[in-house]
Amino acid sequence: VYLELSADGLTRVDGVPDFGARGGDDVRVETAYCGVCGSDRHRLRDPEAAAGAVLGHEVVGVVDEPVADGRVDRGDPVAVAPLEPCGSCRACRRDRSDLCPNRSSLGKDRVGGFSAVVRAPVENLYPLPDRHWRYALADPLAVSMNALSAFEDLSVAADGLVVGDGTLGALTARLLAERGLEVAVAGRREEKTERACTFAGATPDAGNRSYDVAVEAVGGLQAETLETAFERTRRGGTVAVTGVFPDDRLPARVRPAFERGLRVVGVNSYRGPGDGRDDFGRAVARLSQWSTDALTTLVAPSPTAIEDALDDPRVTKPVVAFADGDD
Ligand SMILES: [Zn+2]
Ligand SMILES: [Zn+2]
Repeated sequence: VYLELSADGLTRVDGVPDFGARGGDDVRVETAYCGVCGSDRHRLRDPEAAAGAVLGHEVVGVVDEPVADGRVDRGDPVAVAPLEPCGSCRACRRDRSDLCPNRSSLGKDRVGGFSAVVRAPVENLYPLPDRHWRYALADPLAVSMNALSAFEDLSVAADGLVVGDGTLGALTARLLAERGLEVAVAGRREEKTERACTFAGATPDAGNRSYDVAVEAVGGLQAETLETAFERTRRGGTVAVTGVFPDDRLPARVRPAFERGLRVVGVNSYRGPGDGRDDFGRAVARLSQWSTDALTTLVAPSPTAIEDALDDPRVTKPVVAFADGDD
């Protein structure tokens, strides 16, 4: 079974999707869980998105065929790293595969995880201690890990503000808190902000103080969150921008960034397989130590279940469950 993008959202189809040219040599993985990302939400509701595409890039599954690799084999639980950097461009050669202009990805250039079966290159399979849905968060957590590397010296920062209380905001807040910072989360819906704070060991932002560092973790067709990050960061501080702003131009108040001499760093995804600083691998290792149940909600692989979860304020991260969900 798989869910295909069509003119009016998702359609459930019985059978196996067409993997096309990509996938012939790649390893078959039976999908157990696939997280629903903000970018999936965006494409679901974009009338110009490619019909027939199978979205989903946050896959946990089980290797479904013998692999002569030594690292993983049939029956092993794995997280599938969605990004395939080229490995040879200037960025890749400098361990900045997050900036590879030639990379392709699961759920975009190849069949994604809204399918009971996916195919991925063997180097993109990361062995897991168990087949658990928490590892569906490896992709957003890898972005958070990359965001932290935007800060030159976190050890001299006393406090930090995370603007955004979604999955990315909550994960980033927790990483900053584990680094010893006093962390506040700014969000718009009290219930969701509280949930992010409880998960992260942070407090809701009171709206009136400044911080040494800030992370913008919302993006979209608005600039308020960027302005908040600029206005609430102390002089000489650093702002990491992880949100995706799809418009080329947005009216935004940027003067505070100049006045305060802020260092503003764009964080574009993360470093993956083959990179000397593999954010995805580090995210998988960290998740084995965390419970993410406060953030994750399992949903059935049905179009309505996914749509409903995306609109539900009680849900931070919907995870589509192809497996029973009893792990
Ligand atoms: Zn994602
Ligand atoms: Zn490259």
